[in-house]
Amino acid sequence: MREVFLANRVRRLADELGVAIMAHNYQIPAIQDLADLVGDSLVLAMGGPRLAQRTVLFCGVSFMAETVKVLAPEKRVLHPVPDAMCPMAGMVDPVILEGLRKESPGAPIVAYVNTTAETKAASDICCTSANAVEIVRGLPEKRVIFVPDRNLGAYVQRMVPEKEVVTYPGYCHVHDNITPGHVAALRRAHPGVEVLAHPECRPEVIDVSDHVYSTEGMIRHARDSPSGEFIVLTERELAYRLTAVTGKRAYAPDAVCPNMKKITLASMLRVLTEDGPTVELDPDLIVRARRPIERMLAAGR
Ligand code: SF4
Repeated sequence: MREVFLANRVRRLADELGVAIMAHNYQIPAIQDLADLVGDSLVLAMGGPRLAQRTVLFCGVSFMAETVKVLAPEKRVLHPVPDAMCPMAGMVDPVILEGLRKESPGAPIVAYVNTTAETKAASDICCTSANAVEIVRGLPEKRVIFVPDRNLGAYVQRMVPEKEVVTYPGYCHVHDNITPGHVAALRRAHPGVEVLAHPECRPEVIDVSDHVYSTEGMIRHARDSPSGEFIVLTERELAYRLTAVTGKRAYAPDAVCPNMKKITLASMLRVLTEDGPTVELDPDLIVRARRPIERMLAAGR
């Protein structure tokens, strides 16, 4: 009851103030339901410049809010909980990154979009979980440095054996904690249902899955498939999103990103009422962080 009351207040206030609400696929259902745009980090970042509203309320972790600002610097990006940080993005140490560059002279740094603006600025090209394989395959260099997710890097190496992928030792604890045992239990509970794994899962989990997709890829696959049920190995809220978009059923392990869940309806109401905090980035950092994203987009993959 309180949730419905809060959700209505947030929506009404956002409309009165002319604020667009963006929510990541891992936000709670009540936030997904009231958002103007729901998607993965790239869908949200690409959607920013296209919004008519000058102000955006961003519901997701901080690097995602930063990426919206990087691609739409003219927008005001309200972020309700600035310390909702992605631990994986926070694992990148510039000294380790510099060390990897020195060890592999000439090797480009491919940065997953799940990185801070600083890491993007220190990289040569960005990628998403949907296009990482194609981005790496399309680079002229044989050796590449992949940052920060060792699991996504290992998946890219598996799919592009002709390259040498030097992986940074980062990981997403939400996906890394999913085990083959969880997959077996989900298969037992839902016999015959296809298993779709996110590439941030460990290689041994990929081994026991049927397909590997980004979260948006999972939704597309479900929409186009004749099947009516899916097991999705990713954060549990994606199951709600998949059903909302496709009308089909989805089952996820009990994988929760606590930082995504720091964004609440109450915090959204507060940020609207107080008109802050907003994401502030140095203009020079915006220019440098934008370059590898634009190179990815120019690669058309
Ligand atoms: S799910 Fe993983 S990658 Fe996404 S924000 Fe949470 S910790 Fe970071």
